[in-house]
Amino acid sequence: MRLVGLIGGMSWESTAEYYRIVNDEIAARLGALSSARLLLSSVDFGPIAAAMKAGDWGSVREALVGEALRLRMAGVEALALATNTMHRFAADLEAECGLPLIHIADAAATAIKAAGIRRAGLLGTVFTMEEAFYRDRLRERHGIEVIVPERADRLEVDRCIFGELCRGVIDPRSAARLKEIAASLAEAGAEGIILGCTELPLAMRDGDLAVPYWDTTLLHARALVDFMLEA
Ligand code: GLU
Repeated sequence: MRLVGLIGGMSWESTAEYYRIVNDEIAARLGALSSARLLLSSVDFGPIAAAMKAGDWGSVREALVGEALRLRMAGVEALALATNTMHRFAADLEAECGLPLIHIADAAATAIKAAGIRRAGLLGTVFTMEEAFYRDRLRERHGIEVIVPERADRLEVDRCIFGELCRGVIDPRSAARLKEIAASLAEAGAEGIILGCTELPLAMRDGDLAVPYWDTTLLHARALVDFMLEA
């Protein structure tokens, strides 16, 4: 089994899901007592989230590169980030470490294209929805156009993520609001919704939306397993 280095803890609520899914998948593919060989580097999200809010992206980059180098020294064959937002630094991590990074947007794109869909709504942190790194990856590498909610709704999704889901709070009123925002994207022409934040699947379940949706935590965790089991 090839060894993957996963940088997690952003938040640990979703990293715990990665750990569960990766092990479930390995057991399903290899047999009941099989489990994943995995190195998890779990950061303290408090100072990192504070730096993000302050726009101090240099410190965030430095922290992530440090974790990636630590994992490389420990012998991993690929890196993965258990968060959509931190894929802002995907190219930096690959360049600094000389290791492949299993990209979460590629994992989502594979499923979106398999469904024959070319126009998707994107929910995630303000950074993921507003900056170019995620949208451009989907458009340039995969031919998928992305639409995002209007500004007030983007702020509301971001509030749910950092104010609730990353703290283990699942408020039914917020979950209902997230569904409304997703529905408004479908009305605006999205053929499906990317849950482009690894905590969002904690609040949204099968059957919640009238259009298809893509759980990036699940799809990315499965992509990690594909890499682990590739000959
Ligand atoms: N886990 C989140 C994501 O997938 C948000 C937390 C973060 O900023 O890393 O984007």
